[in-house]
Amino acid sequence: MRICKYCEEGFIPDHGNSQYCSDSCAQLAKLERQTGSYPVGLDAKKAIMTNYDLFKRLLGENHQGEFDHMALTSMGFDRFGFYRISEVSQIRYHVEEYYFTFTDQTLITICKT
Ligand SMILES: [Zn+2]
Repeated sequence: MRICKYCEEGFIPDHGNSQYCSDSCAQLAKLERQTGSYPVGLDAKKAIMTNYDLFKRLLGENHQGEFDHMALTSMGFDRFGFYRISEVSQIRYHVEEYYFTFTDQTLITICKT
């Protein structure tokens, strides 16, 4: 049993020297190193990781998809799980190479940048 350097959860390493429990933890840790330390609390980190994994799974090879907010929430989506916000025509909430926007009250669009 080892403690993930990113999310601080215990995990069983699948090879001797892995420091992270998952690819997403390793990628997010790398992103933090590249962008400098990021003031994200552990809960926010978990929300970001959950969203990241969910977006990756939902979009697959697609670059964009529209999803029902309630359905996403039931799959673990957390609207506060994002790194930063930008505004183009709508507010974009960024989760690494993905961002999501609120299309209306019930729909969320997820895009891959
Ligand atoms: Zn982890």
